[in-house]
Amino acid sequence: MNLQALLPEAIAWAASQAQQVARNGKPLAAAGLALAHRVGVKHPELVRLLHVDRLPIPVDELQLRQAVLDTGMLGPDMVGLTLGHSIFIVHGHDDARLVSHELRHVCQYEALGGLEQFIPIYLQQIISVGYDHAPLEQDARNHEVHGHVGAWT
Ligand SMILES: [Zn+2]
Repeated sequence: MNLQALLPEAIAWAASQAQQVARNGKPLAAAGLALAHRVGVKHPELVRLLHVDRLPIPVDELQLRQAVLDTGMLGPDMVGLTLGHSIFIVHGHDDARLVSHELRHVCQYEALGGLEQFIPIYLQQIISVGYDHAPLEQDARNHEVHGHVGAWT
């Protein structure tokens, strides 16, 4: 897979998806803001969360679509996707564990500087060591919070 060739399309697609969430998602309520603080998010007030029936995948970006299908990313067993301060969560899966995991990805985007910085690093990790061993995924997993219940938005 030629990651360099895919990156412009991947970043553009991610930006347009993030914009959908920014427009249609909900801001965090008190419980969500507390969870965001806990996992290190600097600007919890910028987070928007959108519930969807399934995660978006690229449609018209054929090369990117194929890469997504080949790597198994965004498959039916994935229930959360974070792009900058925008979080997609599949209906019925917004427990503390998943929300805190996705919020930790928000923190990573903030630390790295945004979509254009995060996506190349993230995809490189997925391609080279796989989803389970990708350092950014391990870090998100290490910050998961279990057991809390709350209305996050
Ligand atoms: Zn993750």
